[in-house]
Amino acid sequence: SLRCGIVGLPNVGKSTLFNALSDAGADAANFPFCTIDPNVGVVPVPDERLDTLYEIVGSKEKLPTSVEFVDIAGLVKGASEGKGKGNAFLSHIREVDLIVHVVRCFDDSNVIHVEGDVNPTRDVHIIEDELILKDLESVEKRLESLKKEAKSGDKQTIQKLEIVQQLKEHLENGNAARTFDADDEKRKAYRELFLLSDKPVLYACNVSEDDLDEGNKWVDEVREIADRFNDEVVTFCAKIEEEIAELDEEEKQMFLEELGVESAGLERLIRAAYKELGLITYFTVGPKETRAWTVRRGSKAPEAAGVIHSDFERGFIRAETVSYEKYKELGSEKAVKDAGEMRQEGKDYIVQDGDVMLFRFNV
Ligand code: GDP
Repeated sequence: SLRCGIVGLPNVGKSTLFNALSDAGADAANFPFCTIDPNVGVVPVPDERLDTLYEIVGSKEKLPTSVEFVDIAGLVKGASEGKGKGNAFLSHIREVDLIVHVVRCFDDSNVIHVEGDVNPTRDVHIIEDELILKDLESVEKRLESLKKEAKSGDKQTIQKLEIVQQLKEHLENGNAARTFDADDEKRKAYRELFLLSDKPVLYACNVSEDDLDEGNKWVDEVREIADRFNDEVVTFCAKIEEEIAELDEEEKQMFLEELGVESAGLERLIRAAYKELGLITYFTVGPKETRAWTVRRGSKAPEAAGVIHSDFERGFIRAETVSYEKYKELGSEKAVKDAGEMRQEGKDYIVQDGDVMLFRFNV
């Protein structure tokens, strides 16, 4: 499943958020996952559409898709040089699909700020710089070996060397790898380095309870940073999330209404993560289970089928599909078929968010 790494300076609210996430995961009824590791939490993706389909179909089980969160502590100023817990966090970051960068946007004299005061721009750059510095090490190592290889005069190697050299300058100027202007072909020169600053980022602004609905000047600052590369920003209050995680569904709705927010921060966080990564959800329904699946936006039907099982992709014949809205409107699979709304789609069909799918395949 989708893996998100939570990073940020000490005392910004990472553990509080992570605990809330873990509780949300642990409390979810019928959820077939458990905590794998104290630093990894698996959270079901909240989706009203799944709930509705489950009601309509009357399946035995309801299976949401899930997101994994990894609490990556130890990324502090100087971490790239081995300060703090040193480099242990690096291997964790390499494995994530998305970095959730928690930024402190609340003032509280009881909670010490490691840099003295609240200043999101400075804080974001401290973390970013550590990632860039670490990447510079990887890039420099790669350059050394490429220089040796290039002595053979191989054209491709020389080209790679030039690209990696440019990338090094880019990083040296304080820029993240993901802002390096490179197409897929160019990326091949450094793709296998799995650079940390190449990962997509979602900014999670931890605000005080009072600023939840309107935000504050610090959130605006983070928005400005995020806008550089069209990154997603979510505003949440870690303390509130911790409280929400303890409530049942009904209490939760009442509490959220009181706060004047539509949904819990966790839900918004997960939705934003999907958006940042260009992911969508499709559904399968049946008497046994109603289930949500995650695919990349733009995936064709066979690839989507492959998420369920590789046999489905290999033996793909066609998909029978209808949009969630149509299914809900008509109220049953039979009604969908009777109305002639069940579409037969082939291998070039591009799966849409909310599609209800049934795959036909050869084994
Ligand atoms: P971490 O070091 O980033 O993991 O930060 P923690 O989650 O341990 O939080 C550090 C301290 O800040 C704890 O005492 C939390 O209770 C407090 N804290 C976390 N989130 C909030 C918040 O939204 N508002 C306030 N006022 N305090 C918070």
